Amino acid sequence: MFKKILIANRGEIACRVAATAKRLGIQTVAVYSDADAQAKHVAACDEAVHIGGNAPKDSYLRWERILDAAQQTGAQAIHPGYGFLSENEDFANACAQAGLAFIGPPASAIRAMGLKAESKQLMEKAGVPLVPGYHGTDQNPELLQSEADRIGYPALIKASAGGGGKVMRLVEKREDFAAALASCQREAINSFGNDAVLIEKYVQRPRHIEIQVFGDTQGNVVYLFERDCSVQRNHQKLVEITPSPWAGITPELRERLKEYSRMLVREVGYYSLATVEFLVTPQGEPYLIEVNTRLQVEHGITESRYGVDLVEEQIAVAFGAKLRLTEENTKPSHFAMQVRINCEDPQNNFAPNSGLITRYVSPGGPGVRIDSNLSAGYEFPPNYDSAGSLLIAYGRDWQKVLGIMDRALGEYVIGGIKTTIPFFRQVIKHALFRKGGINTNFIADHPELMVYTDLAPEGERLSR
Ligand code: ADP
Repeated sequence: MFKKILIANRGEIACRVAATAKRLGIQTVAVYSDADAQAKHVAACDEAVHIGGNAPKDSYLRWERILDAAQQTGAQAIHPGYGFLSENEDFANACAQAGLAFIGPPASAIRAMGLKAESKQLMEKAGVPLVPGYHGTDQNPELLQSEADRIGYPALIKASAGGGGKVMRLVEKREDFAAALASCQREAINSFGNDAVLIEKYVQRPRHIEIQVFGDTQGNVVYLFERDCSVQRNHQKLVEITPSPWAGITPELRERLKEYSRMLVREVGYYSLATVEFLVTPQGEPYLIEVNTRLQVEHGITESRYGVDLVEEQIAVAFGAKLRLTEENTKPSHFAMQVRINCEDPQNNFAPNSGLITRYVSPGGPGVRIDSNLSAGYEFPPNYDSAGSLLIAYGRDWQKVLGIMDRALGEYVIGGIKTTIPFFRQVIKHALFRKGGINTNFIADHPELMVYTDLAPEGERLSR
Protein backbone atom coordinates (compact mmCIF):
# COMPACT_ATOMS: atom_id res chain seq x y z
CA MET A 1 0.00 0.00 0.00
CA PHE A 2 1.04 3.65 -0.45
CA LYS A 3 3.04 5.03 2.46
CA LYS A 4 2.32 8.68 1.77
CA ILE A 5 -0.24 10.56 -0.32
CA LEU A 6 -0.70 14.23 -1.15
CA ILE A 7 -4.21 15.70 -0.98
CA ALA A 8 -4.56 18.32 -3.72
CA ASN A 9 -7.57 20.07 -2.24
CA ARG A 10 -8.86 22.07 0.72
CA GLY A 11 -11.92 22.34 2.95
CA GLU A 12 -14.02 19.50 4.24
CA ILE A 13 -13.04 17.10 1.45
CA ALA A 14 -9.33 17.40 2.24
CA CYS A 15 -10.12 16.66 5.91
CA ARG A 16 -12.32 13.74 4.91
CA VAL A 17 -9.62 12.12 2.71
CA ALA A 18 -7.05 12.68 5.46
CA ALA A 19 -9.31 10.87 7.95
CA THR A 20 -9.33 7.67 5.90
CA ALA A 21 -5.60 7.86 5.16
CA LYS A 22 -4.88 8.25 8.86
CA ARG A 23 -6.96 5.19 9.73
CA LEU A 24 -5.08 3.20 7.09
CA GLY A 25 -1.71 4.33 8.47
CA ILE A 26 -0.90 6.32 5.31
CA GLN A 27 1.00 9.58 5.85
CA THR A 28 -0.65 12.68 4.37
CA VAL A 29 0.62 15.89 2.81
CA ALA A 30 -1.66 18.96 2.65
CA VAL A 31 -1.23 21.85 0.25
CA TYR A 32 -2.52 25.33 1.07
CA SER A 33 -2.90 28.88 -0.17
CA ASP A 34 -2.16 32.05 1.82
CA ALA A 35 -5.80 32.27 2.95
CA ASP A 36 -5.72 28.66 4.21
CA ALA A 37 -2.58 28.80 6.37
CA GLN A 38 -4.74 28.29 9.49
CA ALA A 39 -7.27 25.96 7.88
CA LYS A 40 -8.34 22.69 9.45
CA HIS A 41 -7.11 20.57 6.54
CA VAL A 42 -3.54 21.78 7.14
CA ALA A 43 -3.71 20.63 10.76
CA ALA A 44 -5.39 17.36 9.72
CA CYS A 45 -2.38 16.25 7.64
CA ASP A 46 1.07 15.13 8.75
CA GLU A 47 2.89 17.65 6.56
CA ALA A 48 1.84 20.75 4.66
CA VAL A 49 3.28 22.65 1.73
CA HIS A 50 2.39 26.25 0.89
CA ILE A 51 1.61 26.47 -2.82
CA GLY A 52 0.73 30.11 -3.45
CA GLY A 53 -1.82 32.91 -3.44
CA ASN A 54 -5.52 32.86 -2.75
CA ALA A 55 -6.95 32.66 -6.25
CA PRO A 56 -7.36 28.98 -7.22
CA LYS A 57 -5.25 29.58 -10.33
CA ASP A 58 -2.38 30.69 -8.05
CA SER A 59 -2.57 27.64 -5.77
CA TYR A 60 -5.05 24.75 -5.96
CA LEU A 61 -5.04 24.74 -9.77
CA ARG A 62 -1.27 25.22 -10.07
CA TRP A 63 -0.47 21.66 -10.81
CA GLU A 64 3.25 21.99 -11.52
CA ARG A 65 3.65 23.37 -8.01
CA ILE A 66 1.53 20.56 -6.57
CA LEU A 67 3.59 17.93 -8.38
CA ASP A 68 6.76 19.55 -6.98
CA ALA A 69 5.27 19.38 -3.49
CA ALA A 70 4.60 15.67 -3.97
CA GLN A 71 8.15 15.04 -5.17
CA GLN A 72 9.67 17.10 -2.35
CA THR A 73 7.76 15.26 0.34
CA GLY A 74 8.10 11.80 -1.17
CA ALA A 75 4.37 11.27 -1.70
CA GLN A 76 3.56 8.34 -3.99
CA ALA A 77 0.04 9.27 -5.00
CA ILE A 78 -2.26 12.28 -5.27
CA HIS A 79 -5.90 12.41 -4.21
CA PRO A 80 -7.59 15.32 -6.02
CA GLY A 81 -10.82 15.41 -3.94
CA TYR A 82 -13.61 17.07 -5.93
CA GLY A 83 -13.58 20.32 -7.92
CA PHE A 84 -10.17 21.90 -8.71
CA LEU A 85 -8.02 19.29 -10.53
CA SER A 86 -10.23 16.25 -10.00
CA GLU A 87 -11.49 16.14 -13.58
CA ASN A 88 -8.42 17.54 -15.31
CA GLU A 89 -7.10 15.06 -17.83
CA ASP A 90 -3.77 16.91 -18.25
CA PHE A 91 -3.17 16.75 -14.51
CA ALA A 92 -3.94 13.02 -14.41
CA ASN A 93 -1.44 12.50 -17.25
CA ALA A 94 1.17 14.72 -15.58
CA CYS A 95 0.91 12.64 -12.39
CA ALA A 96 1.63 9.49 -14.38
CA GLN A 97 4.60 11.14 -16.09
CA ALA A 98 5.97 12.22 -12.72
CA GLY A 99 5.69 8.62 -11.49
CA LEU A 100 2.79 9.41 -9.13
CA ALA A 101 -0.44 7.46 -8.91
CA PHE A 102 -3.56 9.55 -9.56
CA ILE A 103 -6.28 8.42 -7.15
CA GLY A 104 -9.06 8.50 -9.72
CA PRO A 105 -9.98 7.14 -13.13
CA PRO A 106 -7.73 6.83 -16.17
CA ALA A 107 -7.06 10.11 -17.99
CA SER A 108 -8.81 8.67 -21.05
CA ALA A 109 -12.09 8.32 -19.10
CA ILE A 110 -11.80 11.88 -17.75
CA ARG A 111 -11.37 13.07 -21.32
CA ALA A 112 -14.26 11.00 -22.61
CA MET A 113 -16.64 12.42 -20.01
CA GLY A 114 -15.13 15.90 -19.61
CA LEU A 115 -16.97 17.94 -22.21
CA LYS A 116 -20.72 17.59 -22.05
CA ALA A 117 -21.25 17.72 -25.82
CA GLU A 118 -18.63 15.07 -26.60
CA SER A 119 -19.65 12.79 -23.77
CA LYS A 120 -23.26 12.96 -25.01
CA GLN A 121 -22.12 11.64 -28.38
CA LEU A 122 -20.46 8.75 -26.61
CA MET A 123 -23.53 8.04 -24.49
CA GLU A 124 -25.64 8.06 -27.62
CA LYS A 125 -23.28 5.51 -29.14
CA ALA A 126 -23.63 3.35 -26.04
CA GLY A 127 -27.39 3.37 -26.64
CA VAL A 128 -28.44 5.17 -23.44
CA PRO A 129 -31.51 7.50 -23.63
CA LEU A 130 -30.60 11.18 -23.52
CA VAL A 131 -32.72 14.27 -23.08
CA PRO A 132 -33.70 15.27 -26.64
CA GLY A 133 -31.26 17.94 -27.73
CA TYR A 134 -28.43 19.17 -29.92
CA HIS A 135 -24.81 18.45 -29.01
CA GLY A 136 -22.99 18.93 -32.29
CA THR A 137 -19.74 20.78 -32.90
CA ASP A 138 -21.26 23.29 -35.36
CA GLN A 139 -21.90 26.35 -33.21
CA ASN A 140 -23.33 28.66 -35.86
CA PRO A 141 -25.94 30.77 -33.97
CA GLU A 142 -28.52 30.33 -36.74
CA LEU A 143 -28.11 26.57 -36.62
CA LEU A 144 -28.39 26.63 -32.82
CA GLN A 145 -31.58 28.68 -33.08
CA SER A 146 -33.11 26.27 -35.60
CA GLU A 147 -32.11 23.30 -33.42
CA ALA A 148 -33.80 24.91 -30.41
CA ASP A 149 -36.93 25.48 -32.52
CA ARG A 150 -36.87 21.83 -33.51
CA ILE A 151 -36.42 20.65 -29.90
CA GLY A 152 -39.16 23.01 -28.70
CA TYR A 153 -39.51 25.35 -25.73
CA PRO A 154 -38.79 25.61 -22.88
CA ALA A 155 -35.22 24.72 -23.82
CA LEU A 156 -32.01 24.76 -21.82
CA ILE A 157 -28.71 26.10 -23.15
CA LYS A 158 -25.72 24.60 -21.30
CA ALA A 159 -22.02 25.39 -21.53
CA SER A 160 -20.33 22.24 -22.80
CA ALA A 161 -17.42 22.75 -20.38
CA GLY A 162 -19.80 23.53 -17.47
CA GLY A 163 -20.28 21.75 -14.19
CA GLY A 164 -21.80 22.15 -10.76
CA GLY A 165 -25.05 23.54 -12.16
CA LYS A 166 -23.25 26.60 -13.49
CA VAL A 167 -23.61 28.41 -16.80
CA MET A 168 -27.04 27.36 -18.05
CA ARG A 169 -29.88 29.42 -19.48
CA LEU A 170 -33.53 28.46 -19.48
CA VAL A 171 -35.28 29.80 -22.59
CA GLU A 172 -39.05 29.93 -22.33
CA LYS A 173 -39.85 31.10 -25.86
CA ARG A 174 -38.30 31.41 -29.32
CA GLU A 175 -37.89 35.23 -29.20
CA ASP A 176 -35.62 34.95 -26.13
CA PHE A 177 -33.21 32.43 -27.61
CA ALA A 178 -30.63 34.72 -29.30
CA ALA A 179 -30.08 36.92 -26.23
CA ALA A 180 -29.86 33.89 -23.88
CA LEU A 181 -27.35 32.20 -26.20
CA ALA A 182 -25.12 35.29 -26.33
CA SER A 183 -25.17 35.69 -22.54
CA CYS A 184 -24.50 31.96 -21.95
CA GLN A 185 -21.55 32.03 -24.37
CA ARG A 186 -20.11 35.14 -22.69
CA GLU A 187 -20.29 33.52 -19.27
CA ALA A 188 -18.86 30.24 -20.61
CA ILE A 189 -15.83 32.00 -22.11
CA ASN A 190 -15.21 33.86 -18.85
CA SER A 191 -15.62 30.78 -16.67
CA PHE A 192 -14.06 28.03 -18.78
CA GLY A 193 -12.32 29.72 -21.74
CA ASN A 194 -14.61 27.72 -24.03
CA ASP A 195 -17.90 29.04 -25.39
CA ALA A 196 -19.28 25.83 -26.91
CA VAL A 197 -22.85 25.09 -25.83
CA LEU A 198 -25.37 22.34 -26.17
CA ILE A 199 -29.13 22.61 -26.17
CA GLU A 200 -31.58 20.34 -24.41
CA LYS A 201 -35.28 20.11 -24.01
CA TYR A 202 -36.11 21.45 -20.57
CA VAL A 203 -37.64 18.61 -18.60
CA GLN A 204 -40.37 19.96 -16.32
CA ARG A 205 -40.09 19.08 -12.64
CA PRO A 206 -37.88 16.00 -12.96
CA ARG A 207 -36.05 14.18 -10.21
CA HIS A 208 -32.30 14.08 -10.21
CA ILE A 209 -31.37 10.46 -9.54
CA GLU A 210 -27.80 9.16 -9.69
CA ILE A 211 -26.06 5.82 -9.40
CA GLN A 212 -22.65 5.32 -7.82
CA VAL A 213 -20.49 3.06 -9.94
CA PHE A 214 -17.18 1.62 -8.78
CA GLY A 215 -14.82 -0.37 -10.96
CA ASP A 216 -11.26 -1.64 -10.74
CA THR A 217 -8.46 -2.12 -13.26
CA GLN A 218 -9.40 -5.80 -13.60
CA GLY A 219 -12.89 -5.24 -14.97
CA ASN A 220 -14.91 -5.75 -11.75
CA VAL A 221 -17.74 -3.26 -11.32
CA VAL A 222 -20.25 -2.68 -8.54
CA TYR A 223 -23.37 -0.46 -8.68
CA LEU A 224 -24.50 1.29 -5.50
CA PHE A 225 -28.05 2.61 -5.51
CA GLU A 226 -29.42 5.49 -5.75
CA ARG A 227 -29.02 9.06 -4.59
CA ASP A 228 -31.93 11.46 -5.01
CA CYS A 229 -30.47 14.97 -5.40
CA SER A 230 -33.66 16.69 -6.48
CA VAL A 231 -33.69 19.39 -3.81
CA GLN A 232 -31.66 22.09 -5.55
CA ARG A 233 -31.35 25.83 -5.78
CA ASN A 234 -30.38 27.30 -9.14
CA HIS A 235 -29.64 23.78 -10.45
CA GLN A 236 -27.20 23.12 -7.59
CA LYS A 237 -27.73 20.34 -5.09
CA LEU A 238 -28.62 21.17 -1.48
CA VAL A 239 -30.11 17.97 -0.03
CA GLU A 240 -29.21 14.41 -1.03
CA ILE A 241 -31.10 11.32 0.02
CA THR A 242 -30.53 7.58 -0.36
CA PRO A 243 -32.58 5.65 -1.29
CA SER A 244 -34.95 8.05 -3.01
CA PRO A 245 -38.04 8.57 -0.83
CA TRP A 246 -40.12 8.86 -4.03
CA ALA A 247 -42.65 6.08 -4.53
CA GLY A 248 -41.99 6.18 -8.29
CA ILE A 249 -38.60 4.50 -7.94
CA THR A 250 -39.64 0.94 -8.75
CA PRO A 251 -37.38 -2.13 -8.92
CA GLU A 252 -37.82 -2.05 -12.73
CA LEU A 253 -36.61 1.55 -12.91
CA ARG A 254 -33.60 0.73 -10.72
CA GLU A 255 -32.74 -2.16 -13.06
CA ARG A 256 -32.95 0.14 -16.06
CA LEU A 257 -30.67 2.72 -14.46
CA LYS A 258 -28.18 -0.02 -13.65
CA GLU A 259 -28.30 -1.40 -17.18
CA TYR A 260 -27.71 2.06 -18.69
CA SER A 261 -24.79 2.60 -16.32
CA ARG A 262 -23.38 -0.77 -17.32
CA MET A 263 -23.64 0.09 -21.02
CA LEU A 264 -21.71 3.30 -20.42
CA VAL A 265 -18.94 1.77 -18.34
CA ARG A 266 -18.42 -0.77 -21.11
CA GLU A 267 -18.19 1.94 -23.75
CA VAL A 268 -15.66 4.07 -21.83
CA GLY A 269 -13.41 1.41 -20.30
CA TYR A 270 -13.76 2.86 -16.86
CA TYR A 271 -12.25 2.21 -13.46
CA SER A 272 -12.40 3.94 -10.05
CA LEU A 273 -15.47 5.89 -8.95
CA ALA A 274 -18.04 7.33 -11.32
CA THR A 275 -21.46 8.85 -10.81
CA VAL A 276 -24.01 8.37 -13.55
CA GLU A 277 -26.62 11.13 -13.33
CA PHE A 278 -30.17 10.88 -14.67
CA LEU A 279 -33.20 13.11 -14.83
CA VAL A 280 -36.36 11.10 -14.28
CA THR A 281 -39.63 12.57 -15.55
CA PRO A 282 -42.70 12.59 -13.29
CA GLN A 283 -43.91 9.63 -15.38
CA GLY A 284 -40.77 7.65 -14.48
CA GLU A 285 -38.85 7.98 -17.78
CA PRO A 286 -35.09 8.29 -17.17
CA TYR A 287 -32.71 10.35 -19.29
CA LEU A 288 -28.98 10.30 -18.75
CA ILE A 289 -27.53 13.79 -18.26
CA GLU A 290 -23.90 13.27 -17.36
CA VAL A 291 -21.18 11.15 -15.79
CA ASN A 292 -18.84 12.56 -13.15
CA THR A 293 -15.48 10.86 -12.91
CA ARG A 294 -14.64 11.68 -9.31
CA LEU A 295 -15.77 11.42 -5.71
CA GLN A 296 -18.99 13.44 -5.29
CA VAL A 297 -19.84 15.85 -2.49
CA GLU A 298 -22.70 13.49 -1.61
CA HIS A 299 -20.61 10.30 -1.45
CA GLY A 300 -21.06 10.15 2.36
CA ILE A 301 -24.72 9.10 2.16
CA THR A 302 -23.78 6.10 0.04
CA GLU A 303 -21.13 5.25 2.63
CA SER A 304 -23.75 5.46 5.39
CA ARG A 305 -26.24 3.36 3.42
CA TYR A 306 -23.79 0.59 2.55
CA GLY A 307 -21.35 0.80 5.47
CA VAL A 308 -18.37 1.30 3.17
CA ASP A 309 -15.52 3.81 2.90
CA LEU A 310 -15.33 4.88 -0.74
CA VAL A 311 -12.07 6.77 -0.26
CA GLU A 312 -10.41 3.65 1.12
CA GLU A 313 -11.55 1.70 -1.93
CA GLN A 314 -10.40 4.49 -4.26
CA ILE A 315 -6.93 4.40 -2.73
CA ALA A 316 -6.78 0.61 -2.97
CA VAL A 317 -7.90 0.56 -6.61
CA ALA A 318 -5.37 3.30 -7.50
CA PHE A 319 -2.72 1.06 -5.97
CA GLY A 320 -3.84 -1.69 -8.36
CA ALA A 321 -5.74 -3.85 -5.87
CA LYS A 322 -8.84 -5.80 -6.78
CA LEU A 323 -12.13 -4.14 -5.86
CA ARG A 324 -13.27 -5.64 -2.59
CA LEU A 325 -16.85 -4.46 -2.95
CA THR A 326 -19.11 -6.95 -4.66
CA GLU A 327 -22.85 -7.16 -5.02
CA GLU A 328 -22.85 -10.05 -2.53
CA ASN A 329 -20.81 -8.37 0.21
CA THR A 330 -22.22 -4.86 -0.19
CA LYS A 331 -25.84 -4.76 0.90
CA PRO A 332 -27.74 -1.58 1.76
CA SER A 333 -28.80 -1.39 5.38
CA HIS A 334 -29.66 2.24 6.11
CA PHE A 335 -31.41 5.31 4.82
CA ALA A 336 -29.33 8.47 4.77
CA MET A 337 -29.73 12.17 4.06
CA GLN A 338 -27.15 14.91 3.65
CA VAL A 339 -27.73 18.64 3.87
CA ARG A 340 -25.08 21.06 2.66
CA ILE A 341 -24.31 23.54 5.41
CA ASN A 342 -23.14 26.41 3.24
CA CYS A 343 -22.04 29.81 4.47
CA GLU A 344 -24.67 31.71 2.56
CA ASP A 345 -27.91 33.58 3.16
CA PRO A 346 -30.93 31.60 1.88
CA GLN A 347 -33.21 34.61 2.34
CA ASN A 348 -30.98 36.65 0.05
CA ASN A 349 -31.01 34.22 -2.88
CA PHE A 350 -28.32 32.10 -1.17
CA ALA A 351 -25.71 34.87 -1.45
CA PRO A 352 -22.29 33.73 -0.15
CA ASN A 353 -21.18 34.88 3.28
CA SER A 354 -17.74 35.02 4.85
CA GLY A 355 -16.14 36.24 8.06
CA LEU A 356 -15.32 35.20 11.61
CA ILE A 357 -17.10 32.20 13.11
CA THR A 358 -17.72 33.31 16.66
CA ARG A 359 -19.27 30.10 18.05
CA TYR A 360 -19.28 26.56 16.83
CA VAL A 361 -21.17 23.70 18.44
CA SER A 362 -21.31 20.56 16.36
CA PRO A 363 -24.16 18.04 16.60
CA GLY A 364 -23.38 14.43 17.42
CA GLY A 365 -24.93 11.30 18.83
CA PRO A 366 -26.55 8.30 17.14
CA GLY A 367 -27.03 8.52 13.41
CA VAL A 368 -25.05 11.71 12.81
CA ARG A 369 -21.97 12.22 10.65
CA ILE A 370 -20.39 15.57 10.00
CA ASP A 371 -17.61 16.37 7.53
CA SER A 372 -16.52 19.87 8.38
CA ASN A 373 -13.95 22.52 7.81
CA LEU A 374 -15.31 24.87 10.47
CA SER A 375 -14.47 25.80 14.05
CA ALA A 376 -14.89 28.72 16.44
CA GLY A 377 -12.39 31.47 15.71
CA TYR A 378 -12.03 30.41 12.07
CA GLU A 379 -12.25 33.23 9.55
CA PHE A 380 -14.32 31.72 6.74
CA PRO A 381 -12.54 33.00 3.61
CA PRO A 382 -14.36 34.76 0.75
CA ASN A 383 -11.99 33.27 -1.81
CA TYR A 384 -13.59 29.87 -2.36
CA ASP A 385 -17.04 28.40 -2.64
CA SER A 386 -19.45 28.67 0.26
CA ALA A 387 -19.32 24.98 1.32
CA GLY A 388 -18.86 24.84 5.10
CA SER A 389 -19.77 21.37 6.28
CA LEU A 390 -21.76 18.33 5.27
CA LEU A 391 -24.28 17.07 7.79
CA ILE A 392 -25.51 13.51 7.36
CA ALA A 393 -28.28 11.73 9.28
CA TYR A 394 -28.67 7.97 8.85
CA GLY A 395 -30.99 5.37 10.29
CA ARG A 396 -32.97 2.22 9.54
CA ASP A 397 -35.83 4.03 7.85
CA TRP A 398 -36.80 7.38 6.38
CA GLN A 399 -38.84 8.48 9.42
CA LYS A 400 -35.84 7.92 11.71
CA VAL A 401 -33.61 9.87 9.35
CA LEU A 402 -36.06 12.80 9.37
CA GLY A 403 -36.11 12.76 13.18
CA ILE A 404 -32.33 12.56 13.50
CA MET A 405 -31.78 15.36 10.99
CA ASP A 406 -34.31 17.59 12.74
CA ARG A 407 -32.57 17.05 16.07
CA ALA A 408 -29.07 17.54 14.63
CA LEU A 409 -30.02 20.80 12.89
CA GLY A 410 -31.48 22.01 16.19
CA GLU A 411 -28.19 21.29 17.98
CA TYR A 412 -25.97 22.85 15.34
CA VAL A 413 -24.64 26.29 16.29
CA ILE A 414 -22.59 28.35 13.86
CA GLY A 415 -22.37 31.91 15.16
CA GLY A 416 -21.24 35.08 13.42
CA ILE A 417 -22.08 34.05 9.88
CA LYS A 418 -25.23 33.21 7.90
CA THR A 419 -25.68 29.57 6.98
CA THR A 420 -28.26 27.29 5.42
CA ILE A 421 -29.11 25.70 8.82
CA PRO A 422 -32.36 27.62 9.54
CA PHE A 423 -33.53 27.03 5.98
CA PHE A 424 -33.01 23.27 6.30
CA ARG A 425 -35.02 23.30 9.53
CA GLN A 426 -37.94 24.55 7.42
CA VAL A 427 -37.31 21.95 4.70
CA ILE A 428 -37.31 19.07 7.21
CA LYS A 429 -40.68 20.16 8.59
CA HIS A 430 -42.30 20.52 5.18
CA ALA A 431 -45.13 17.98 4.71
CA LEU A 432 -44.37 17.37 1.02
CA PHE A 433 -40.67 16.86 1.66
CA ARG A 434 -41.47 14.36 4.41
CA LYS A 435 -43.61 12.42 1.96
CA GLY A 436 -40.84 12.37 -0.65
CA GLY A 437 -42.78 14.77 -2.89
CA ILE A 438 -39.71 16.56 -4.20
CA ASN A 439 -38.45 17.49 -7.66
CA THR A 440 -35.83 19.91 -8.94
CA ASN A 441 -38.33 22.78 -8.65
CA PHE A 442 -39.21 22.02 -5.02
CA ILE A 443 -37.52 25.10 -3.52
CA ALA A 444 -38.72 27.46 -6.25
CA ASP A 445 -42.28 26.11 -5.91
CA HIS A 446 -42.36 26.61 -2.13
CA PRO A 447 -41.50 30.19 -1.19
CA GLU A 448 -42.88 29.47 2.29
CA LEU A 449 -39.56 27.69 2.98
CA MET A 450 -37.92 31.12 2.99
CA VAL A 451 -40.17 32.50 5.69
CA TYR A 452 -38.36 32.06 8.98
CA THR A 453 -36.64 34.04 11.68
CA ASP A 454 -33.03 33.13 12.14
CA LEU A 455 -33.56 32.26 15.80
CA ALA A 456 -30.70 31.02 17.90
CA PRO A 457 -30.59 27.26 17.43
CA GLU A 458 -31.76 25.11 20.33
CA GLY A 459 -28.18 24.26 21.24
CA GLU A 460 -27.34 27.90 21.70
CA ARG A 461 -30.45 28.57 23.77
CA LEU A 462 -29.63 25.66 26.08
CA SER A 463 -26.10 26.79 26.69
CA ARG A 464 -27.04 30.33 27.67
P1 ADP B 1 -23.78 20.35 -14.01
O1 ADP B 1 -22.74 19.50 -14.64
O2 ADP B 1 -23.52 21.80 -14.21
O3 ADP B 1 -24.09 19.96 -12.60
P2 ADP B 1 -26.03 18.92 -15.04
O4 ADP B 1 -26.19 18.65 -16.48
O5 ADP B 1 -25.55 17.79 -14.17
O6 ADP B 1 -25.09 20.15 -14.86
O7 ADP B 1 -27.39 19.45 -14.44
C1 ADP B 1 -27.52 20.01 -13.15
C2 ADP B 1 -29.00 20.22 -12.83
O8 ADP B 1 -29.60 21.09 -13.80
C3 ADP B 1 -29.84 18.96 -12.88
O9 ADP B 1 -29.82 18.25 -11.68
C4 ADP B 1 -31.22 19.54 -13.16
O10 ADP B 1 -31.82 20.08 -12.01
C5 ADP B 1 -30.91 20.67 -14.09
N1 ADP B 1 -31.00 20.22 -15.50
C6 ADP B 1 -29.99 19.83 -16.29
N2 ADP B 1 -30.43 19.49 -17.51
C7 ADP B 1 -31.77 19.68 -17.50
C8 ADP B 1 -32.82 19.51 -18.46
N3 ADP B 1 -32.57 19.12 -19.71
N4 ADP B 1 -34.08 19.79 -18.07
C9 ADP B 1 -34.37 20.22 -16.82
N5 ADP B 1 -33.43 20.40 -15.88
C10 ADP B 1 -32.15 20.15 -16.21
